[in-house]
Amino acid sequence: MALIVQKYGGTSVADPDRIRAVAEHVAFTKRHGNDVVLVVSAMGKSTDNLIALAEKVSSVRTGREMDMLLTTGEQVSMALVSMALADVGVDAMSLTGDQMGIITDTVHGKAKILEVKPERAQEAIAQGKVVVVAGFQGLSTNNEITTLGRGGSDTTAVAIAAALGADSCEIYTDVTGVFSADPRIVPQARKLARISFDEMLEMAGAGSKVLALRSVEFARNHNVPLQVRSSFTWEPGTWVTAEESSMEDPIISGIVQDANESKVTVLSVPDRPGISAALFEPLAAANVNVDMIVQNTSNDGKTDISFTVPKAELKIALEIVESVAAEIGAGGVSHQSDIAKVSLVGAGMKTSPGIAAKMFRVLADEKINIEMISTSTIRISVVVAAASTEKACQVLHTAFGLDSGQAYSAPLPERK
Ligand code: ADP
Ligand code: ASP
Ligand code: MG
Repeated sequence: MALIVQKYGGTSVADPDRIRAVAEHVAFTKRHGNDVVLVVSAMGKSTDNLIALAEKVSSVRTGREMDMLLTTGEQVSMALVSMALADVGVDAMSLTGDQMGIITDTVHGKAKILEVKPERAQEAIAQGKVVVVAGFQGLSTNNEITTLGRGGSDTTAVAIAAALGADSCEIYTDVTGVFSADPRIVPQARKLARISFDEMLEMAGAGSKVLALRSVEFARNHNVPLQVRSSFTWEPGTWVTAEESSMEDPIISGIVQDANESKVTVLSVPDRPGISAALFEPLAAANVNVDMIVQNTSNDGKTDISFTVPKAELKIALEIVESVAAEIGAGGVSHQSDIAKVSLVGAGMKTSPGIAAKMFRVLADEKINIEMISTSTIRISVVVAAASTEKACQVLHTAFGLDSGQAYSAPLPERK
């Protein structure tokens, strides 16, 4: 008998029909002799709606109160899914993150899971119950309710799968698997049968939201095989595993776009030792996620430093940087939000020179200007104007031979 953790994202539990479809599928999995633990997201767009509601009510939105608010979304889903399961004859019990024993650090809004204490869930499973856990939430070491960052239910699912020693973790969503690019942006994208943890980690790190970055880190560290699949068609999806890619695999496995970052530029910074540390240490201390960093060559002992931060962290980043800029005698601070990051990811890059040059040529031929560049051994990222994102993804997808040759034909479900 296998133990399977199934995670259902927002679109998979968006309305009563979807919730009943989930319950039927769980009943089916159970009938086949498996134990099942579910992790559910908030229904449809309810997390976005709760954030919008908070913005209408107050300009003072502490992390603590935001987490109290946002965790209610997943709690609605866990209770409704448990009721729907009871309706199809499955004995189910919902658990909040706290009840599930998910212990996190104290960083509201993007807490990290430190530990999962699975005893209560194990007891329920031993009694033949299906446990339905509210995703995206935990209890901090200070006994406060926390959330794990947007898309965090993926992380809940993988952490629980690791803690319970589950045989696999299935991530149900509104596409049929992981594609060579976001199928909503690149219609000719192809579904990957499998992808390695390392490549998926780079895709998630580059901003692909199909899996949350921390969920992939967790899966790799604890060797939990993941399957990303559709709760609309239920067909076999994409396996994310430790398996390395083989020689026959394409050099590039995916193209990722990310419009969630803004660029901050500190102008005329005195070019002397310690300046970068003075700038980036306070950002790190405030938990701001700095991504790409570019420093210009120095001119008359002054240089410009640009970097990207998540749009959601721009306000706090600017407050910090403006005060440091004044202290160190920089010329000023500017910022730009109409940018996007486009990345190529592929393990084959390690052994194939010239990928970056080809990427830059393809973009140049389309008159797309590159504002920043960063690389890892299996990723190349560039920052371009937001308006060029779709074009950049599509031309790169074609140029690197990723087009499936047929328009992506399985109709995507309506986004709610
Ligand atoms: P869920 O609510 O189920 O967690 P998400 O919206 O977080 O779903 O993630 C699924 C979405 O990820 C898809 O609808 C798709 O638009 C997007 N996506 C981005 N990149 C990819 C990719 N390479 N393959 C598949 N989907 C992708
Ligand atoms: N509901 C949360 C979000 O919208 C968490 C999740 O869906 O994974 O980000
Ligand atoms: Mg998601």
